Amino acid sequence: MRGLTISAHGGLDRLELRDDLPEPSLRTDGDVRVRVRAAAINHLDLFVVGGLPNVRITPPWIIGSDAMGTIESIGTAVSGLTAGDQVLINPGISDRTCEYCLAGEQPLCPRFRVLGEHVPGTLAELVVVPAPNVLPVAQDADPIEGAAFTLSTLTAWRMIVSRARVIAGEHVLIWGIGGGVALACLQICKQLGAYVTVTSGSDEKLARAVALGADATVNHRGVDVGREMRARTGKRGVDVVVDSVGEATWSQSLGALGRRGRLVTCGGTSGPMVTTDVRRLFWNQWSILGSTMGNDAEFAAVVDEFRRGRLRPPVDGVYDLEQGRAAFERMERGEQFGKLVVRIAP
Ligand SMILES: [Zn+2]
Repeated sequence: MRGLTISAHGGLDRLELRDDLPEPSLRTDGDVRVRVRAAAINHLDLFVVGGLPNVRITPPWIIGSDAMGTIESIGTAVSGLTAGDQVLINPGISDRTCEYCLAGEQPLCPRFRVLGEHVPGTLAELVVVPAPNVLPVAQDADPIEGAAFTLSTLTAWRMIVSRARVIAGEHVLIWGIGGGVALACLQICKQLGAYVTVTSGSDEKLARAVALGADATVNHRGVDVGREMRARTGKRGVDVVVDSVGEATWSQSLGALGRRGRLVTCGGTSGPMVTTDVRRLFWNQWSILGSTMGNDAEFAAVVDEFRRGRLRPPVDGVYDLEQGRAAFERMERGEQFGKLVVRIAP
C-alpha cells in the first residue's frame, strides 16, 4: 500500500512516500475500511511532523486527518453502511463510553484520538476508522471537495455555532483569512447573517475573502488590529473574535473585543502562552472559549451542509501523492488560500 509517512520527527524532509506499507485490518467488528480517494492536509499535520508532546509514533507513520473515500469493507457489527458508499471521515475518535461521550460531547473524551496523530492517518490508499466516524454523501460527490471539507468545517462549526453562538447582526473578527478553519468560519458566519471583518498580511487574500462574502478587511501588517477595530466601531468593539494564532495576536484580539464579547480559539499557531488582564475580563464580562474539533451532532450537521451544497470549501490546490511534500511546503509558508488536497486514487 502507498502512503505518505514519517519515520522520525523534524522538518518536511522527513516526509517519505512509501509503497510497501501493510494494508490495515479492521481493529474491531465496529470498524470500516475506506479506500481513500483524496486526503487534505491541515496545520495539525505540520505539528505531527515536527513532533508533539506526549504523542509517540510507530514508524513508518501515516499522517493525514481529512479524507473522502469509498467504503471497502465493513465490520460484522456495523449497520447502515454498504461497501461502495462514498463517505466523509470525522478524524476525531472517542471511546463512546465515558461521561462526555454519553452526553454527546465526544471531543471532551479523555481517550480522544485523532487520525494521523494517534492512529494511522488518511494520506494512504486505505484507512480504518470506527463506523460512527463516517457519514455517506452522494455517490457523485467530488472527492477533492469532500477531502477539503471535514476537519476545517467541523472545527469552525463548533467554534461559531456551538461555542460562540454567533447570531445575525453580530460583528465577528476573524484572524488570518486563508487557512481552512478561518475560511469555514467566514462562510458559516455569513450564513448566520453576521457582519464579518477578516485580517491577513496579504492584500490578495483579503480581496479573495471579500469575494467569498467578507464585509470588511484589515491588513494586519504593522497595524494594531485591536485599536483599528475600536476606531472602526466608534469604540464599541466587536462581538466575537476568532483567534487561533495565539501569542502574536491575543492582546490585539482582546483590544478589539467589546463588552460581553466572546473570544473563541482552536489553536495557537504562533505560540501558546498568552496574557489576559483579568480586570478587563470581568469588567467587560468577556467569555474566552476553547474549542476543538466537533461532536457527532456537529459532524452530522456539517455533512448535511455538504450534501446540500450550502458550505463548499475553497480549494487552493490539488497534488498527486508523489508531490505531497510540495503541499506541506506551501502550508508551512502560509501561502495557501483554502485547502491543500492530495489525490490518492482516481
Ligand atoms: Zn469518551
